[in-house]
Amino acid sequence: MAYDPRTSTGIPTEPVGSLPRPSVLQQAYARYDAGEISKDELAEQQEAAVRDSIERFEATGSPIISDGEQRWSSFATYPITDTLAGTGLAPTLGPGGQFFAIFADGHGRQLPKLERGPFSYVNYAAESLAKSLPHAHRPMKQAVIAPSMLALLYPLRDPVDGYSRDDFEAALVDECEKDIRQAFATGAARVSVDFTEGRLATREDPRNPWTGAGLLPHFVELINRVMARFTADERRSIGVHTCPGGDRDSVHSADVPYGNLLPAMFGINAGYFLIQMASERDKDPVLGLIGQNLRDDADGVAQTAYIGVINPQNPRVESPQEVAEALIRAANHIPKEQLGSTDDCGFSPFSIDEKPNHGSPDYARDVAFQKIQNRVEGTRLAAEKLGL
Ligand SMILES: [Zn+2]
Repeated sequence: MAYDPRTSTGIPTEPVGSLPRPSVLQQAYARYDAGEISKDELAEQQEAAVRDSIERFEATGSPIISDGEQRWSSFATYPITDTLAGTGLAPTLGPGGQFFAIFADGHGRQLPKLERGPFSYVNYAAESLAKSLPHAHRPMKQAVIAPSMLALLYPLRDPVDGYSRDDFEAALVDECEKDIRQAFATGAARVSVDFTEGRLATREDPRNPWTGAGLLPHFVELINRVMARFTADERRSIGVHTCPGGDRDSVHSADVPYGNLLPAMFGINAGYFLIQMASERDKDPVLGLIGQNLRDDADGVAQTAYIGVINPQNPRVESPQEVAEALIRAANHIPKEQLGSTDDCGFSPFSIDEKPNHGSPDYARDVAFQKIQNRVEGTRLAAEKLGL
């Protein structure tokens, strides 16, 4: 599918991926975990939420849409479990793994633990995409999880009996390549890799030991091993998303200096980056860093920086004028031909999310679609002003 991200808005614009799941779907997940409804009954609710998501996404005018990840347990765990409570967990995994993150409001999200080899995904992103595509009238993007996130399934210090970290990571790189390839083969116009653990990797949080283990260079290397499987032409449509987290309207690494991450991150040979910025306090130095580190030739592809102009954790809706101003400001630091716009993060990366700042996930959905509509309008405005 030939999708030109510049066509309809002058400056490319793209969502990250997730939307809040309706309350009725979140209740269905709980009832499925409790054994009160069947997998088919859960799937019916997921399907209804996807249809509603796509219809409302298209009504925003967004040139590219997602299915809101309504069928997924989370952006990070969809390949390994059906629900956050662990129903459908991959057979080589068990409970009690590392905390992926401890958030600013004190809540944490814990991963399962690899107990033995060999590792493989139990679900691929393309399986959900294949069910969603028939409902869509616009190009769809697909988000996938980075191998660096799933690398945290392997215990930080103790080796897994009979299955080395190297063997595990080789399997992980293969699976991530397959996840991306299948998404394209199924019909995704673009695929972005969620890399929220990147900024967290330099946090040095004593409560969460992996964040002090100096893993960022290794994370970048793992993602580049996946990128190396794709041609420059393919990588033009492969992105990487960075953010300080976004769950229950809270963050995990907003206090980590962006300078710790960005020079390393642009070393990833991806074609584009979806970068949280709207909620960043001191924007100009970060925009400057992006301008300095964005590459014209990342192993054959010029990189585009999609700047976050919408804060999914805050119910206040940004106006189109605000969005346009944010992009014009970004163009002071970033070549306008390499500039795009996005949301700071998915609107609900985890399936069970009360969206406390919003009061309810249902209201948060209404807010999300209004925000997306204003992102698209504001991006068009900025393009006119910048002569694109
Ligand atoms: Zn994010």
